[in-house]
Amino acid sequence: MIRVEGLVHRYGDTVAVNGVDLAIDDGECVVVAGANGSGKTTLVRHFNGLLDPDEGTVSVNGRTVSDHLVAARTAVAMVFQHPEDQLVAATVGADVAFGPENLGLDRGDIDRRVRESLAAVNLDGREDERVDSLSGGEVERLAIAGALAMRPDHLVLDEPFTGLDEPARRSVLARLRDLRAEGTSLVVVTHDLRDVAELADRVVVLADGDVALDAAPDEAADRLPDLDVRPPC
Ligand code: ADP
Repeated sequence: MIRVEGLVHRYGDTVAVNGVDLAIDDGECVVVAGANGSGKTTLVRHFNGLLDPDEGTVSVNGRTVSDHLVAARTAVAMVFQHPEDQLVAATVGADVAFGPENLGLDRGDIDRRVRESLAAVNLDGREDERVDSLSGGEVERLAIAGALAMRPDHLVLDEPFTGLDEPARRSVLARLRDLRAEGTSLVVVTHDLRDVAELADRVVVLADGDVALDAAPDEAADRLPDLDVRPPC
C-alpha cells in the first residue's frame, strides 16, 4: 500500500503539493485527476522516491520511501509522461528485459516475464522489432510492459494518453482495462477524465496541490462540474 501523510513539496516559492493525505491499497485502481499544474506529477513522483518531501511522509508497504528507496522502486513502477525517454534498448524484447536483468533473475525467468508483459499490452511476439519503428501508442504500451516486467505492487502511469492519436489512445485504454480486470493495481494520472474514470475504484481530484475530491467514479462525475477537470463525455 502507498500512504501519503501531510505531504508538502515546494519548487522555490511554488507550493506544488500542499498537505496531501492519501492512502492507496494494493489491488486498487485510482485515477488522479486535476487541472494542469494542480500537483499530480509532483505527488506521484514521491511514490517511489524520485522527489523528497519538504514536509510529511510517504511510505510504501509500511516503509518510509526516502529510507527504503530500493524497496519503494521495486514496489512502485512508473511510466512517465514521455515514455520514449524511458526506453533503454534498441529492440522491444531487450527493452522489457532490462529491468528484470537488473534484478539478477535467471534467463528463463527473464524471458518468461518479457513474454507475459508484452502479451499484456498486445505486443506479443514482437521481441525482435526495433523500438524506433514503433508508433506512439506502441511505445506507450512498451513502456507499460517494461514496468509490468518488474512485477510491481503498483503501476503508476503519468498522463499515458499524451501525444497519442485517437486509435492509439483507445488501444492503450483497452490494455489498461485488461490490466484492471486482471487485478493489477493502477494509479493513472490525467488532466482529462474522458473514458478513464470508468477504470477507477476511486477518483482523486487535486486542486492547487491538495485533494479537492476523493470519491467513487459516479460521485466524482456528479461533482466534476464544480471542479476544474474535463468531465467524462
Ligand atoms: P500537474 O502534474 O498537475 O500538471 P505538476 O506537479 O507538474 O502538476 O506541477 C505543480 C506545480 O509545480 C505547477 O505550478 C508547476 O509549474 C510547478 N512545477 C512542476 N515542476 C516544477 C519544476 N521542476 N520546477 C519548478 N516548478 C515546477
